[in-house]
Amino acid sequence: MTVTPTDTTSFMPDPDERGRFGEFGGRFVPETLVPACAELEAAFVEAWADAAFTQEFHELLRTYAGRPCPVTVCSRLSSQLGFRVLLKREDLNHTGSHKINNVLGQALLAKRMGKKRLVAETGAGQHGVASATAAALMGMDCVVYMGEVDIKRQALNVFRMRLLGAEVRSAMSGSRTLKDAVNEAMRDWVATVATTHYCLGSVMGPHPYPWMVREFHRVIGDEARAQCAELLDGEVPDYVVACVGGGSNAAGIFSGFADTRARLVGVEPAGGAAIGRAVPGVVHGSKSYLMQDEFGQVQEAHSVSAGLDYPGVGPEHAHLAQIGRARYESVTDAEVLDAFELLSHTEGIIPALEPAHGLAWMVKAKDELAGSTVLLNMSGRGDKDVAQVQAILDGDPEALSTMRP
Ligand SMILES: *Cc1c(COP(=O)(O)O)cnc(C)c1O
Repeated sequence: MTVTPTDTTSFMPDPDERGRFGEFGGRFVPETLVPACAELEAAFVEAWADAAFTQEFHELLRTYAGRPCPVTVCSRLSSQLGFRVLLKREDLNHTGSHKINNVLGQALLAKRMGKKRLVAETGAGQHGVASATAAALMGMDCVVYMGEVDIKRQALNVFRMRLLGAEVRSAMSGSRTLKDAVNEAMRDWVATVATTHYCLGSVMGPHPYPWMVREFHRVIGDEARAQCAELLDGEVPDYVVACVGGGSNAAGIFSGFADTRARLVGVEPAGGAAIGRAVPGVVHGSKSYLMQDEFGQVQEAHSVSAGLDYPGVGPEHAHLAQIGRARYESVTDAEVLDAFELLSHTEGIIPALEPAHGLAWMVKAKDELAGSTVLLNMSGRGDKDVAQVQAILDGDPEALSTMRP
């Protein structure tokens, strides 16, 4: 089945009572985790319907995260590419990306549930830093699980988390990277659920996480819809583009436009194109598309951008791809680096490598996009990436080894 974007039903409704988006999602967890997920679901449903909770959340987004962030019209880039480029500036939020929306929502919910401790998983360290930030703000303890390999690679983020008062614990199992950190965080949660909330970093994991995380990021799409209406005489952009790691910034911006004629495009790294390969499977508690080898083993993802280095994608994206409401494209690391430089010198905005994927696709698709208006979710700023990009451009072999063809 393929839906046309001219249909104006919402293609991003709440999941069904089993937590499914079409055939994807659900709650594939050990028996011991079911009560914790059920308790969280009940608490979220109740809080999200309570105006006092949503008001407190939006007040924090305003006074702490710095929302609303603007939509910027990129005139120089637009005339160079031949279509109108708008950026939703999540890079201007406190801590430099969209991640703050989700962690403030979850920390506030955890506090309401009477929990005093957050556990989180992190790969490159950005979600760990965001979780540690929210925990510090709310006076909660915070333990961040991180693969032993990633701890070595991301020393600066480990220091940031410690500075924010979090304890960083090394995940020693498996490949000692992100997926092992997720397993350890879940294990900790089961053992300490009376006092602990598991603050999961994207639209992944067992129900209610993919839905709850999307709802905390919905503010991106809601703001952008209103800001675009003002810029475009009540119209919506022709395309809404976002990078996809787990898929949270994309889910947030898509949710504001799913019921319009705007075409939705998610962009994955070529070395982590879970949707591009369209193999369904279960990973970390929900059914979605993931990268598997011929024996059904989950493969490691590889990308120049550590924030997109994940073998799976959130279940709602698998559903949106299957029904044809969103499409998913991929770009190479070399194309991403070109886009990173392009935005920096045409607009004076150094993007994070993740949203540079979205721009890289736009450059590649410029014939298709000619004459249209394209909104890109600028999910984060590039400060964290400049040293890596400099080393790559200088031909440093270790930095070059992070690149995939
Ligand atoms: C973490 C991160 C991403 C990837 O996560 P999603 O859940 O796919 O949004 C994208 N952009 C930035 C700036 C990030 O920090």
